[in-house]
Amino acid sequence: MILILGAGLAGLSLAYHLGDAPYMILEKEQEPGGLCRSMKLDGFTFDYTGHLLHWRNPYTPSLLEELLPDGWIGHRRRAAIYLYGRFIPYPFQANLWALPRGVREDCIKGYQDRRGTGDDFLSWIEAHFGKGMAEHFFIPYNRKLWRIPLEEISPEWAERFIPKPSPEEVLRGRGNPLQQQLGYHRSFLYPKEGGIGTLAEALAQRVKGLQLGRAVSSIRPKDRVVVLEDGEELPYQLLVSTLPLPELLEMMEGLPEEVLQGAKGLRYVSVFVIGMAVDRPEVSPYHWIYFPEARFPFYRVGFPSSLSPKMAPEGKSSLCVEVSHRPDEPLNQQALIDQTLQGLSEAGIIQEGDRVRVLLTLDIRYAYVIYDKGRRALLPKVLQFLEGYGIRCLGRYGLWQYATMEDVLLEGRDLATELR
Ligand SMILES: Cc1cc2nc3c(=O)[nH]c(=O)nc-3n(C[C@H](O)[C@H](O)[C@H](O)COP(=O)(O)OP(=O)(O)OC[C@H]3O[C@@H](n4cnc5c(N)ncnc54)[C@H](O)[C@@H]3O)c2cc1C
Repeated sequence: MILILGAGLAGLSLAYHLGDAPYMILEKEQEPGGLCRSMKLDGFTFDYTGHLLHWRNPYTPSLLEELLPDGWIGHRRRAAIYLYGRFIPYPFQANLWALPRGVREDCIKGYQDRRGTGDDFLSWIEAHFGKGMAEHFFIPYNRKLWRIPLEEISPEWAERFIPKPSPEEVLRGRGNPLQQQLGYHRSFLYPKEGGIGTLAEALAQRVKGLQLGRAVSSIRPKDRVVVLEDGEELPYQLLVSTLPLPELLEMMEGLPEEVLQGAKGLRYVSVFVIGMAVDRPEVSPYHWIYFPEARFPFYRVGFPSSLSPKMAPEGKSSLCVEVSHRPDEPLNQQALIDQTLQGLSEAGIIQEGDRVRVLLTLDIRYAYVIYDKGRRALLPKVLQFLEGYGIRCLGRYGLWQYATMEDVLLEGRDLATELR
């Protein structure tokens, strides 16, 4: 029996691709989907936070079509950075034309003199974009998102997620908008209705052995037994965990002290999400906007109503505001909401006379994994150690990685192929 912990996309994809092989999924929540869930509030649909499906593997669109036939809308990204009172098209580094003149000159000069070892994230930024772009955009934005000095972050994830235009493109982009889009999310798919949660629901309908409201509380690896919160004990031959790695390690009995201490050092940031409704159509022409400046508490604002006409009642718009924070930092949620409303007005997104309602707040404890030296040293050792006890890890937090929905869907498929 394969026991799968967690019914987010990773666990569901594994189960789906296991087909008739014997397995059971244990999920602590009363519904499947993990981060890939949506909710309907007063006629508006909100995801747990904006979830757009970008893909690069040819298998992905066929899987999506099988799960939600004719159920997808294709989008070309419309994204911007709000800086110095104007909207700069994304990516910043290829659209210097949109900056105030003095800032543009700083950025070009810095780009021409760019240097750095690339050993840590700060130095990677300076090596690829130069000091001007670093100071005006990359440093303030990333400090706001990651909440730690950028020298403490290692840069391996950035190669994939931060577009690196060629020198010709950067220099062309100082005079004119580029014709082609850059970056991993230049186009994406989104469900026609119901929000991104319909993807997880479609998978869940096709798997058997899904047990909801079943939280795992401890694991006895030597006996190959999982203990549930209600005290029930379940034996396994193979355990696949999509739980956040530090939580999995914490619930394992008999873990060597060195591994336990390493697990405590795994770092991550949390994201506080505010979902808002505005009684006006198309509050913004963008799908989402980045906010690097410190005067705004949020780092990104998305517009769910721009993704499908079914996301909001006719003539209305919705916003999804993301504020990152350290996991154990106390949050004054009301103050954040007030500052957010103020910031959205300053940026001209909310206008005088708009009727704005906060419909949703939620805090995603495990949002972004921080890549650092501790992670790099610990991860291979821990995964090998766990395999010795018949435990495999999977998913964004199971493998402690910066993974997209497509990544975890494919990881589930690949592990199923290996195990079947
Ligand atoms: C802010 C943010 C924005 C994102 N935007 C995008 C995007 O636009 N596009 C994209 O492709 N990806 C995006 N992602 C990434 C995407 O959400 C993930 O890659 C994917 O949803 C991860 O799925 P998972 O199954 O690995 O993890 P999860 O969804 O976290 O699933 C883990 C499951 O384990 C369950 N669980 C936890 N503890 C226990 C326990 N003790 N017992 C039993 N069950 C337990 C949880 O309830 C959960 O259901 C975003 C992520 C974040 C944080």
